[in-house]
Amino acid sequence: MEEKKGIGVFPGIVTGKAAVFRHTVLGNVEHTLTDDPVSELESFQSAHKNVLEEIRGIKATTKEERDMISVYESMLTDPDVLALVKDNIIDRHYNASWAVEAATEKYTSALAALGNSYFAERINDIRDAESLLLSAIEGISTAVMVSEPSVIVADYLTPSELMQMDKSNVLAILLDTGGPTSHIAILCHSDEIPAILGLGDISSKTKDGDTIALDSKEGIAIINPDEKTIRRFRARKGIAKRIEKELLKDAVLPSVTLDGRYIHLMCNIEGVDGIESAIKAGAEGVGLFRTEFMVLGNLNSSEEENAEAYEKVAASIGEIGPVTFRTYDLGGDKMADDMAEGEANPVLGWRAVRFCMERKDIFRAQLISILRASAISPSVRLMFPMISGSEELMDVLAFLEEVKAECRERGIAFDENMKIGTMIETPSAAITADVLAGLVDFMSIGTNDLIQYTIAVDRGNEKIAYLYKPLHPAVLRLLKYVSDVAKRAGISLSICGEMAGDPEYTPLLIGLGFEELSMTAHSVLDVRKHVRALSYDSCRELADRILSLSDATKVEESLTEFNKAHNLQ
Ligand code: PEP
Ligand code: MG
Repeated sequence: MEEKKGIGVFPGIVTGKAAVFRHTVLGNVEHTLTDDPVSELESFQSAHKNVLEEIRGIKATTKEERDMISVYESMLTDPDVLALVKDNIIDRHYNASWAVEAATEKYTSALAALGNSYFAERINDIRDAESLLLSAIEGISTAVMVSEPSVIVADYLTPSELMQMDKSNVLAILLDTGGPTSHIAILCHSDEIPAILGLGDISSKTKDGDTIALDSKEGIAIINPDEKTIRRFRARKGIAKRIEKELLKDAVLPSVTLDGRYIHLMCNIEGVDGIESAIKAGAEGVGLFRTEFMVLGNLNSSEEENAEAYEKVAASIGEIGPVTFRTYDLGGDKMADDMAEGEANPVLGWRAVRFCMERKDIFRAQLISILRASAISPSVRLMFPMISGSEELMDVLAFLEEVKAECRERGIAFDENMKIGTMIETPSAAITADVLAGLVDFMSIGTNDLIQYTIAVDRGNEKIAYLYKPLHPAVLRLLKYVSDVAKRAGISLSICGEMAGDPEYTPLLIGLGFEELSMTAHSVLDVRKHVRALSYDSCRELADRILSLSDATKVEESLTEFNKAHNLQ
């Protein structure tokens, strides 16, 4: 039994069998000596047999695939390599993985020394074959396939890998890496998958089939728990379910403070399916539709396909509230299959509108789809992500005008009064919000990125997650400034970053003047409960007090004290 602590994402208490997935085991091999070389050799032989069968079973359809398979086979059947692995185990007592690693190293060095470019190019294929073999020895799979209900344990997962999984079989997700507002965390939240990120080495400590017990609210995962622990987790699960049921009963109650201030709660969704849970939770509209998640696997999805999906969302939301289509925020950690990778700083690089303005074919098709949906419901709004300043905003607005003109020419119906907004996610946008406010109908603060860029802390990196502080005075001052600007300009303003959905922050955000918050469906239930227990006056006093504090720790203390005094823990 081993307990690990990480960053809890979507809350849940789960016990189940692990399905371990690592992108590569290369470079992570443990070098230990075995005191039972004979059984170590047997485990190598069994892994070797399985990998060889797997490779021989692949039906190659292209010449490249055939070449690759033949390189795999020649490495895996090379008598010198096999003899060396055997010597490494039997004579030198290396463990099986180390024996394979050492033998492959020798094999690839010999090929490289031939100075032949063909062999040099094949070294990557040999490394792939080595990786398959090492994965088989260590009992982990190299593809995220979940054929039975499992707790997925992995080094990391990309958003597109998660999207491609059969989620009905995913009980929970445990990752070595990942920060609290990484996109994988956001997806787990919106898919309501209990998850713990930043667990360090859980993927190498766990084997396929191990039992896992986890409480993601507490950020605790236990590998191979004893019976007593499993019983304890099951009992806690029962209690959590009852609390959840109580919260759902309140979904029909208005989100209004004790002194009558209405706080508009909306949902963030990543696909058409999200609408159902949004409505069930009593959300009044969609404050953020992260449209890019629908195209991660197929960037060139057609205008028709998108329009159909967007129209469906617009029709479902009807008059409940706005539905805010954010144009593709691709790039960073949301790379579509056919986007080139390899930037030194992808999060500061070719992403969102920067990408769209260069790939106008893709951008145009999306804008037309959104415009088409606007004809279905006056609730449809359009919002641009990652705007860095007024010039960039004016460029995208001009392009939108071009696309509208094209629609008029083509006889495509759309709402001429569709509301247009900008996200405030960069410090430059926040500081010039007064200028941006004059160009749009509404603004929405993406605190996930705003915090990342203001504090210069990668939101996806668990190593520096301790620096990712939503309550940093710099962040709070920016929030207050944008809130004041929007009031003066008389335009609507929301927060759609994860901060909006954390009930701990609700009094502070209300006190800073925010009246629209957008979050995952599940968070709506908790936040509504908090709103209904607060008075605007006390929130304002709290915000005034907090704005004079010098650091995040003092802010946290003050907020915790306030929440405790109001029984909001
Ligand atoms: C944000 O940055 O806060 C935001 C809502 O956008 P995303 O999380 O998709 O980057
Ligand atoms: Mg963002």
